[in-house]
Amino acid sequence: MRRRHRGRRILVCPQCNSSQIVQANASITGAVYRCLKCDYLGALVLEIEVDDTGKPLR
Ligand SMILES: [Zn+2]
Repeated sequence: MRRRHRGRRILVCPQCNSSQIVQANASITGAVYRCLKCDYLGALVLEIEVDDTGKPLR
């Protein structure tokens, strides 16, 4: 039986491309994310698809 390869989505920092993104406290305007690597704080993060090993699909 074959499975179709499906990636999962992770969040990455728009500044340093790190995937060490945590969700900070949600505000009225929505979720706010923080990067553990460069201390970026903001609502804008990138979302990429990776395979099981964490490699980007594109
Ligand atoms: Zn960062």
